[in-house]
Amino acid sequence: MTPQNRRKLSGRIIKAAEAALAAKNYVSSVDVLVGIGWLDPASLKRWQQGQVAYLERVVQANLSRISEAMKLFRSWAAGKGLVPKETHYIARTPRRQTLCFSKSGNPTIEQLYRTHWLSGELSKSKRERLAERASRAPELVVIQPLNLAWTCHRCGGTGNLLVMENPGPACLRCVGLGDLEFLSAGNALLTRRAKAKSVRHAVVVRFSKSRGRYERQGLLLEPQALAEVQRNLAQQEVKSVGKGAADA
Ligand SMILES: [Zn+2]
Repeated sequence: MTPQNRRKLSGRIIKAAEAALAAKNYVSSVDVLVGIGWLDPASLKRWQQGQVAYLERVVQANLSRISEAMKLFRSWAAGKGLVPKETHYIARTPRRQTLCFSKSGNPTIEQLYRTHWLSGELSKSKRERLAERASRAPELVVIQPLNLAWTCHRCGGTGNLLVMENPGPACLRCVGLGDLEFLSAGNALLTRRAKAKSVRHAVVVRFSKSRGRYERQGLLLEPQALAEVQRNLAQQEVKSVGKGAADA
């Protein structure tokens, strides 16, 4: 790369990084790659859904250019006094595997990619919260189809719920969510507690023709987690009713 090209690239990287930092108080390698136009959002989404083996594969530049860009980004971030914080990238799939960035899979390179740079002006606890939120596994989405005449691309079966995969819709049994139980939206306390207890869970959405968007219907949860929380809440209710009667 000529010094002039490097300067130009550096300018684009700084602009993209500054924008992300202003919007979110942190900036990631992904923000920079999208911001300089080397990674299109649709490819990013496919990677996040576990449909692309590694991110560099869908970045529109060769490996040495990408490596140069990431080096420029890191030296800008360090020079600006941003604080590096390693985060986790987890696929939006039932398996929830760790996403891979590099073709080589080299642990050091993976770690550099995963590192977010946080504003140095934030307090330590704010930085911790921000990093924790960024590391959280993304919500898994299950669709309640309007048209029930669909076929699972894996087993040829069907059902009243499906997960969209790259080749087409898949049934819950094939993606390993077949045992989950549906809890319709409405009871916020029950939903929150049961979700926290259920290792595997998914949001159920349905397309609203009148509103032109997907709307949340409820959650799929592990039956034992749901039953346990329902039992606990019922016991609490009995206690508070008993207390009310005693007070009267
Ligand atoms: Zn199937």
